[in-house]
Amino acid sequence: MDREPVEALREAAAAGVEYDGLSASLDGETLQVAVEDSTTTVDDRRLDDLPEPFVPYVRNWVYWHETAPQRPAFRAFLRWLERANDGEPSAVPERYDALETGVTRTWGQLLLTARLSEGGRRRYELRHVDDRDVPAGDLQVHGGPNDAETIARHDDRDRYRPLKTAPTLRSGWLFPDLGPDEVLSVVSEFYPATIENWFREREGTLDVTHYREAAERQTGRYRSVSELPSEALEWAADACCVDSQCLKRREWDETADEPLDVPRGDGPFPCREPCSLFVAAAKEWTSLEDEATRTYEIELTPSERDQLEAIVDAVADGRVDEIREADLGDGANRYRARYLRAKRFGDVESPAFQETDRTHGSEEDTSD
Ligand code: SF4
Repeated sequence: MDREPVEALREAAAAGVEYDGLSASLDGETLQVAVEDSTTTVDDRRLDDLPEPFVPYVRNWVYWHETAPQRPAFRAFLRWLERANDGEPSAVPERYDALETGVTRTWGQLLLTARLSEGGRRRYELRHVDDRDVPAGDLQVHGGPNDAETIARHDDRDRYRPLKTAPTLRSGWLFPDLGPDEVLSVVSEFYPATIENWFREREGTLDVTHYREAAERQTGRYRSVSELPSEALEWAADACCVDSQCLKRREWDETADEPLDVPRGDGPFPCREPCSLFVAAAKEWTSLEDEATRTYEIELTPSERDQLEAIVDAVADGRVDEIREADLGDGANRYRARYLRAKRFGDVESPAFQETDRTHGSEEDTSD
């Protein structure tokens, strides 16, 4: 059973309490409490007997010291959620007013709302940002981290999501009523280690591993990624790490002294080293960059040339499934692509791309 808040405060006051505008100390056996411009002494009174200005401050202290997780990263995250300003004068009554209706924050594609509950406790709601205005009754209700793991596994077209921070989280679900430990577990299931790295960055202790250092550590089939040329590394970061592909904010570069000329992203949580997906992609591109370039000649109308570009753009932007069959004006329309293939690529005896020349590259020429 929970302790009476005043008893918990009395015990802590022996060492002195200064928290969110609440001060408490012991004068002999007498508990002295101060908030804003008011002070009072507390003998045998229970919390509900205290004058009104003191109650929310004491409840707030009790929540953060008796109920909320004590691990610094988790605690900082929950305080960030309800916009409690660590280290600054905190207007607890105003914060409590806001928590009555709910304080909302976004974390990647998650929309988190903190609300006040019985005895100053907090409860948390979590849904997809796209469901911000959807009535709760229209969303599928879930209860814990295992459900989050299931939701996060596949996108809305049921394709496996290899990168949990890709902006492809499906919507339509709701975690309506989570306690502090539960909400942290659910967030960590959707976006592993993001809270811890966000906290490290705030504390100035984020240890970043840059690409060349990470590549040197690779062994076995990934050893080759250390040979990825610098220019190709920029293309790779542009392909994988920008906001349209990953919600982490890239903090690593080629080396500490060689920044990549690629947008880092605007997300709240940092990326401290190339992830396994990036390393796997880098392996592929290292092999591709090992090939020498050659010159080809192809006959295309200007519209066909534009169409090739439209197809590459549509695939790279993940828009292929959005292009309707009736939208024949779009270069990446399926019928138009099939027409182009039949016209320019259908004849295997006479391939569209005729090799006309060879230029030098890193591949050794063994044709002679
Ligand atoms: S390396 Fe790039 S893709 Fe991987 S988590 Fe970091 S920012 Fe995202």
